[in-house]
Amino acid sequence: MGTKRLDKISDYRRHGFDLQVTCCACRHVGRIDAGVLSRQRHEQRRSTDMMFVSARLRCSECSSHDVSCGPIER
Ligand SMILES: [Zn+2]
Repeated sequence: MGTKRLDKISDYRRHGFDLQVTCCACRHVGRIDAGVLSRQRHEQRRSTDMMFVSARLRCSECSSHDVSCGPIER
C-alpha cells in the first residue's frame, strides 16, 4: 500500500478514511465523516490542514479539547 500522506482532511477522504476522535478526558470515541468535515472547512474558508482541523476538535460528550485523532477506515 505504501505510505499515505494524511496532511489534510481532504486526504482522509481521498484515501477512504474517516476521522476517529478519542477524548483523553472521558475516553469517549467519536467518528467524523471526512467528506462532511472537508466540505464544512471549505465553506467556512478555513484551512483543511490537519494541524488546524485537529486543533478545533472537541469531545461531543464532555466538550474537552484534549482529544487525539487518527484515520479509521470507512
Ligand atoms: Zn470527553
